[in-house]
Amino acid sequence: MPSTRILRVDTQRPDPALIARAAEIIRGGGLVAFPTETVYGLGANAWDAAAVGRIFHAKGRPASDPLIVHIAEIPQLAQVAREVPPSVPLLSRHFFPGALTLVLRKSARIPDNLSAGMDTVALRMPDHVVARALIKAAGVPIAAPSANTFSRPSPTSAEHVLEDLADKVDLVLDGGPAHIGIESTIVSLVDEPPRLLRPGGISLEALRALLPDLQYTPHFANDADAAVPAPGTLLKHYSPRARLLLFHGDDCAVYAAMRAEIARHSRVGLLLRQRDAVQFADLDIRTESLGSNSEQAAERLFAGLRALDKAGVDVILARAPEQSGLGLALHDRLLRAAVGEVIDARAML
Ligand code: AMP
Ligand code: MG
Repeated sequence: MPSTRILRVDTQRPDPALIARAAEIIRGGGLVAFPTETVYGLGANAWDAAAVGRIFHAKGRPASDPLIVHIAEIPQLAQVAREVPPSVPLLSRHFFPGALTLVLRKSARIPDNLSAGMDTVALRMPDHVVARALIKAAGVPIAAPSANTFSRPSPTSAEHVLEDLADKVDLVLDGGPAHIGIESTIVSLVDEPPRLLRPGGISLEALRALLPDLQYTPHFANDADAAVPAPGTLLKHYSPRARLLLFHGDDCAVYAAMRAEIARHSRVGLLLRQRDAVQFADLDIRTESLGSNSEQAAERLFAGLRALDKAGVDVILARAPEQSGLGLALHDRLLRAAVGEVIDARAML
């Protein structure tokens, strides 16, 4: 494959000629990385099993981990799914386009490799002008997981895509930083009652306002588990190269436990909300701020992990957020990034 091209694209009024070039690559069976409001996607023609196979190969993604299909308009839903449950119109009215992915019974046109051999398919309509323009111009639904190497932090900028996938993708559309910064919320409507499979950009609370019986049981599968885990439940995911330690507890306990940990290592980095980071201002320590609210934390989380990796730290200290609103997704990502290494600071006092 020739080396990857990167094209800067206006996110409000993308140049139609540029979108047409990208769409041509998709139709020709190639791979295009493109911006969405959640994270960058690695896209291929969803009808083309060979192109879909290239996604798995480029990412080093196990064949057991299915992809999300992206659509630009509601009528495409019926091409991708063979059954449309009664809750879909309500959910799509509220959350399409947006950071909600629905798992439905798949249509016969969905290649087996895309859905990892399952009878279901995950589907989303991104809330991003460039993403939808690309899908429309390609004239096909676009299969797109996050545009990172498998198990690495998701990409929230074109630079992140290149860090992982340079020369493995034909074109990168650079639309600047991803606005939400964490992936979509996945809801399975093939289960009764419906089940939240992955917390993400749309909160559990907002979804339960429309689906009162929506279930959520966090699941973290270990590599050592004998059975193939359900898609997306692997504990190690979104992980930096450095070890990440996730601290639970109140302010005093967490700050004390973090100081003890800092003293133990020579190259430590902090990934903290601003109000926590200022507690360590007396130390000369590499810090990535997660800002002052959940939205900012989501936007900065993956970029912060990558920045600390680049800085060459061995250990990253982070704090468990409140598990409500976007905090539920933040906690999920941090726990997987930490591969389960949680420090209960209260127990250390
Ligand atoms: P990514 O786009 O990289 O965030 O990965 C897509 C994720 O969507 C997978 O890891 C699964 O968690 C989920 N997914 C995709 N298709 C299905 C499906 N048919 N059933 C359940 N989960 C799915
Ligand atoms: Mg991913």
